[in-house]
Amino acid sequence: MIAKYLKEYENELNICIRCAYCFEGCPVFKELGWESDGARGKAILAYGLLTGELKPSKYIADKIFQCTYCRDCLERCSPSVKIPEILCAARADLVDAGFVYETHKGMVENVKRTGNIFGDEEVTTPVQEGEIPVYIGCQYLARPNQAKLYIRILEKIGVKPLIKNEICCGFPLYALGFREEFKKWKTKFIELFPYKEMIALCPTCAAFLHEEYGKEIKHVTQIILEHIPEANLGIKATYHDPCDLSRVLNIIEEPREILKKIGVKLVEIERSKKTSYCCGGGGGILMSNVELSDRIGKVRIRQAIDTGAPMVITPCPTCEQVLKKAAALEGNIVVRNISDIIWKALS
Ligand code: SF4
Ligand code: SF4
Repeated sequence: MIAKYLKEYENELNICIRCAYCFEGCPVFKELGWESDGARGKAILAYGLLTGELKPSKYIADKIFQCTYCRDCLERCSPSVKIPEILCAARADLVDAGFVYETHKGMVENVKRTGNIFGDEEVTTPVQEGEIPVYIGCQYLARPNQAKLYIRILEKIGVKPLIKNEICCGFPLYALGFREEFKKWKTKFIELFPYKEMIALCPTCAAFLHEEYGKEIKHVTQIILEHIPEANLGIKATYHDPCDLSRVLNIIEEPREILKKIGVKLVEIERSKKTSYCCGGGGGILMSNVELSDRIGKVRIRQAIDTGAPMVITPCPTCEQVLKKAAALEGNIVVRNISDIIWKALS
């Protein structure tokens, strides 16, 4: 196998394979318990692929794809080894070597055919003229009521969203290792969205538009906080930090400030803010290993239940979906998107 994408990480891999400091925080390691499930173990496999000591195999591909890209390892790593980036490169090399999941291939075809990850031709963007470009993202586009709710919230607080007919930001193509496809998609995306400053609704899209496209991105909660009036909802809840929002974009206090301002009494959950525990929905494992995703989701919902709050609030559509499923299995807690709570306060 030619390790075309892994090559640039040789030095970082050399550091990581001698370490293992971060393993305890990894949600995948916590569930599966093998060294090869944590960051260092995966780094050893990637290093083996790079040096040619290991031949690519389904076993290695399964291990490399079992990562939620939660970046907990990166947060704990003193030499700042970018494990999620390294695994992303390893995935790209594995895809080039023919190790492709059918579900991932299907998603890439969906994006190319319909512009959205679901391959749903009925998914439409609520196009409108306005002043500030707002990017909705596939997950919210597939939940039209929630997308419209965010737009109504923005309008109610005096922001005029400019919404164009969207295509996927391309994160799934990149994250699942389809680099050639992503390269072409990126050009198309930039032509459609040439703006430097944008607002994004979905934390994952926001993080990717910032990191890969270099956009000056504001997450919708940052804008809402600037304009929202005080209210007194009198709700008790806990807040789940989406990894992409807290660890990548450092947006930690803004959603909490909004909730406090509208009268939500917040109870902090175990593993919050920069050390937030992954919901289990990232990195493509929802498609390649749903059972693992469910297990991680159940751990997180249990942590939410243990706060004693009757509700967990999150601004991420994927976290919301995974936690709702986990709550249905574990019981005893309501999961809400932050937009529902904000709208309640505004109306
Ligand atoms: S990611 Fe960092 S902390 Fe974790 S094993 Fe590698 S070098 Fe050590
Ligand atoms: S990104 Fe998260 S799931 Fe992946 S290796 Fe690091 S801690 Fe584990």
